[in-house]
Amino acid sequence: MTEPTTSPSRHVAIIGGGPAGLMAAEVLSQAGVRVDLYDAMPSVGRKFLLAGVGGMNITHSEAYPAFLSRYAERAPQMATLLRAFDATALCQWIHDLGIETFVGSSGRVFPTDMKAAPLLRAWLKRLRESGVVIHTRHRWLGWHADGQLRIDSPTGEQQLKPDAVLLALGGGSWARLGSDGAWMPLLAGRGVELAPLQPSNCGFDVAGWSEVLRSKFAGAPLKNIAIALQNSTPRLGECVITASGIEGSLIYAWSAPIREAINQQGVATILIDLLPGKPVDKVAAALAKPRGSRSMSKHLHSQLGIDGVKAALLRELAPAECFADPQRLAQAIKGLALNLIKTRPLDEAISSAGGVRFEAMDENLMLKAIPGVFCAGEMLDWEAPTGGYLLTGCFASGRAAGLGLLSWLKA
Ligand SMILES: Cc1cc2nc3c(=O)[nH]c(=O)nc-3n(C[C@H](O)[C@H](O)[C@H](O)COP(=O)(O)OP(=O)(O)OC[C@H]3O[C@@H](n4cnc5c(N)ncnc54)[C@H](O)[C@@H]3O)c2cc1C
Repeated sequence: MTEPTTSPSRHVAIIGGGPAGLMAAEVLSQAGVRVDLYDAMPSVGRKFLLAGVGGMNITHSEAYPAFLSRYAERAPQMATLLRAFDATALCQWIHDLGIETFVGSSGRVFPTDMKAAPLLRAWLKRLRESGVVIHTRHRWLGWHADGQLRIDSPTGEQQLKPDAVLLALGGGSWARLGSDGAWMPLLAGRGVELAPLQPSNCGFDVAGWSEVLRSKFAGAPLKNIAIALQNSTPRLGECVITASGIEGSLIYAWSAPIREAINQQGVATILIDLLPGKPVDKVAAALAKPRGSRSMSKHLHSQLGIDGVKAALLRELAPAECFADPQRLAQAIKGLALNLIKTRPLDEAISSAGGVRFEAMDENLMLKAIPGVFCAGEMLDWEAPTGGYLLTGCFASGRAAGLGLLSWLKA
């Protein structure tokens, strides 16, 4: 796509220096627009850096239809953003910054050194060279009655009247990294349609673990399991028992439907398969073998390799009488029902759902209620599982909003 160019005298304020805001800054500065980027924190890209701590998973290599399906009901809207900047384009963009990438066994894409910091450093250097001025410790407070932006800075409150504004303020989790969701009432006050921020890719609480499970197994990983919600295809992976419930990548992958079930019914029941590689009849046959004087724990361990946290969870959730009936116990092992009653708090979540509704914006990602103000990144009302889909969505929407803003300036 040819990027529209505009007069260098045009001035844009970007609020928020996460991946979305920085990507918009790149598009705009490359087109000759004067860009000032404001961020409330002492440095930009803090959540991006945190995302790099456990291995920066920047995108995913799966085929585009599967990739797009991760955005669930927002797939049609995300398709228009990803069309101009999909996973392949994102990888090429990273390579252009001098950072190589590799595809992990799960199909996830990482920078070769797994880190976010070298990428951010190279990117910020390039942005500064292209004229982007970054103002840290500058918090946007909203608008004055005359439409000027209110920016709180170390030297006092400033007022700005740029030609256009791009908001990339992030979602509502990990407030200490800057994305505190404090923008919600500011936009609501200007008549922008918003969906409430909710935890996504989050852990869940149970009604209460037994003292044994909590004291001995909080923090223990449940590996090689599968989880399903009723009437859905199970997914393989792993998760972690916590003091109050359960979390981890497999739970995050299910977090949207679990959260919605809790919202609607007050409870979501997940079915945990402790032995996804073994059909139920084989499990039952193994359990039916004579165990002599061996305890049931030893029998489960020797016949099926179930011990540790898996054995504890089975004891916790399977009715006691199952243990006398191999068929029923096999069914419990293949589908342990666990009731989840509450999401963990939004601030703990990896990302948030909700935010600025797509219906509140035009095709350029400009707010219909506030002409000249554009939005991008996690603050838009979409969600996706972990696996690189979050960052790809933020980069793609930052780029789309930047291009949309350019078109609007030109028009
Ligand atoms: C622990 C963790 C691990 C993650 N791992 C991955 C991963 O591996 N892969 C992946 O794809 N995603 C991952 N994510 C998610 C990803 O980091 C976010 O989705 C992404 O950073 C959001 O980008 P953004 O630009 O929309 O917002 P943010 O990165 O949140 O940036 C928003 C910026 O706006 C600033 N701001 C907010 N309000 C104001 C204001 N009023 N005035 C001025 N500035 C303001 C903030 O200071 C912040 O710098 C992870 C997230 C977490 C928490």
